[in-house]
Amino acid sequence: MHHAYLFTGPTGVGKHTTAQSFAASLNCLKRHEEEWIDACGECSACKRIATGQHPDVLEIAPSGNFIKIDQIRAIQKAALSPPFEARFRAVILDQAHAMTEEGSNALLKTLEEPSARTLIFLITDQPNRLLDTIISRCQRLRFGALSEDEVARALPAVLEEPAEEALLRVAAGYGEGSLGRACEVLESGMLEQRAELIADVLAVPADRARQWLETGERYGKGNSELQAQLDVLIVYFRDLMLASRAERSRVINSDLDDLIDQGVARFALPDILRILDALMLSRERLRRHVNPQLLVEGVLDQIRQPSQTL
Ligand SMILES: [Zn+2]
Repeated sequence: MHHAYLFTGPTGVGKHTTAQSFAASLNCLKRHEEEWIDACGECSACKRIATGQHPDVLEIAPSGNFIKIDQIRAIQKAALSPPFEARFRAVILDQAHAMTEEGSNALLKTLEEPSARTLIFLITDQPNRLLDTIISRCQRLRFGALSEDEVARALPAVLEEPAEEALLRVAAGYGEGSLGRACEVLESGMLEQRAELIADVLAVPADRARQWLETGERYGKGNSELQAQLDVLIVYFRDLMLASRAERSRVINSDLDDLIDQGVARFALPDILRILDALMLSRERLRRHVNPQLLVEGVLDQIRQPSQTL
């Protein structure tokens, strides 16, 4: 056992869950001394760790864009005293790359003088933003993206409500290797709206400016769902790209055959690529708070442009 671990890898693949399970297996009330067991998940220690309510498991995440120096000082202070009731105290530092320079240096001191009963877990999807000196003092574990199969199989256990098998597959595709992302997509209800959104956008004809404006207005009202809608269109046009390259088996919207056929019949590959570029750019711009109405109109404009290749 090391006193500090660094878990790196994409978001939503189980880094935080692993740290929590580790803390639980050390402190599970069913564990006897040096014997290694999986946490029982049922005793009061396990339950409080899973819900973030155990006094000896410190969960730290950025408040705003940064992990504040006070949060690091709380870790330093905790590491100096024995745990309240557990065998080992665990500190789980989410998005560890968000530490300030001052915070990083303060944490470094704690890592240099480890306490026997405190374990620190640093979690990040951007390890290159951590100080080398911090990385070198941790035992590093790399977490990879999950396969679509793995995500689809793991989904039912983390969902609050059951979902159809076909929808699980689609969500796994949207998740791009992240169980957390797939779960989010499924619970947002966005998948049920895919067909309507895609059909609406495709229905905007090249010669009818008014309908185009109405569609722009409908989908561009600065709502937070616009991001999700752009994701739907991106996945759809990526599917069209695959379908036109005879890679239909890799299509994510495998349950929307008609719309895929329609799209392949209507758009030539160079147009699909041009529209995909515009969609990705729009998603980027949305993060930088470009006016959503303008953004949707830009996207629709790309989609209704007559093909330059025919
Ligand atoms: Zn337990």
